Amino acid sequence: MILHLDMDAFFASVEQLDNPDLVGKCVVVGGQSNRGVVAAASYEARKYGIHSAMPIFQARERCKDLVIVSSHRRRYSEISQQVMAILGEYSPLVEQISIDEAFVDITGCDQITGSTRDTALAIKKRIKEAVGLTCSVGAAPVKFLAKIASDMDKPDGLYIIRPDEVASFVQHLPVGKISGVGKKTRSALERLGIRLLGDVQKFNEQKIIARLGKFGYRLIELSRGIDKSKVTPHSPTKSISTESTLSANTDDKTFLTTQLLGQAEEVGRQLRRKAMKAKTVTLKLKYSDFKQITRSISLVEPTQVSTVIYGKAGDLLSAETLRKKVRLIGVGVSGLVPGDTPVQCGLFDQVCDTENIWGKVDEALDHIRGKFGKDIVVKASLRRRDESTE
Ligand SMILES: [Mg+2]
Repeated sequence: MILHLDMDAFFASVEQLDNPDLVGKCVVVGGQSNRGVVAAASYEARKYGIHSAMPIFQARERCKDLVIVSSHRRRYSEISQQVMAILGEYSPLVEQISIDEAFVDITGCDQITGSTRDTALAIKKRIKEAVGLTCSVGAAPVKFLAKIASDMDKPDGLYIIRPDEVASFVQHLPVGKISGVGKKTRSALERLGIRLLGDVQKFNEQKIIARLGKFGYRLIELSRGIDKSKVTPHSPTKSISTESTLSANTDDKTFLTTQLLGQAEEVGRQLRRKAMKAKTVTLKLKYSDFKQITRSISLVEPTQVSTVIYGKAGDLLSAETLRKKVRLIGVGVSGLVPGDTPVQCGLFDQVCDTENIWGKVDEALDHIRGKFGKDIVVKASLRRRDESTE
């Protein structure tokens, strides 16, 4: 059995925990200005239809007593680490997937901790006692169902899908509930006549694969209750990078720089998701003759800000004399340190300003993308590139 644990309204609950005046109130964590977005909403605020990624001004319109508090990232990651450590007491197989979510493989733990229900209840109790917060737990024989189950009985929930219940559960499951199925995929599936996962089995497999490619295979497996992905504890990440082969070789540095913008955003997003900062930025170029070069620069202070990564990669590119046309370009970061490593402000005020201002932009973008998909917001310079190629 696999458990999926998800803290309830995590950031907002931490704020209520640390400030009892906020208990029972409509609380959102987010920027104070009207241009900001909600990073997390308390259950009281959710009753008004307020949810994360909603612009603050809209949240204010919905609830006139709304309390807006700024986020305390370091405090959230401190509690997150406590929670993950507790999970580690129950199984060596813990896979953290975000600051407040993790999978735990408890197969074989029944000798020690009892049934699935007993184990899940014990974990919930232990977390409540240790950090003072509630969480919701889902249990199922496969990962994708465990994740769906944790959302079934929120807050402070426990929902178990037993092996003999998988087939009927899958039959009636709306495809939009599957992690990774966004609005776009969902409407593509609906056009095919697939609304429930059970509908998949009514269709010709070849047609589904032809329409959906690789994801088609996965969907067919999921519709049979099969999910081969395992709970994998992370090996500490040493570097993160992304690269792309260009549709045509080029030596146009302006074009290459816009490539770096999207790549730096992706690398930054992964850093932030892992709550890491990087000390080194690397640019990679492969020329039309397949010869490859890398150029690296060390940062004064480690960063997780996309704009900083972009700036450094851009500097490396402009310093480079292109020998030939370029066929591949990429950005990487290395020298990773935990994201809560303090930045030495004062000495390098410039660094701090950039970190603070663009860090907030990144935070807002991450939330919006997490909610509505990766392509929902694009930097203006990327948009221009798209238009010019249309
Ligand atoms: Mg949560």
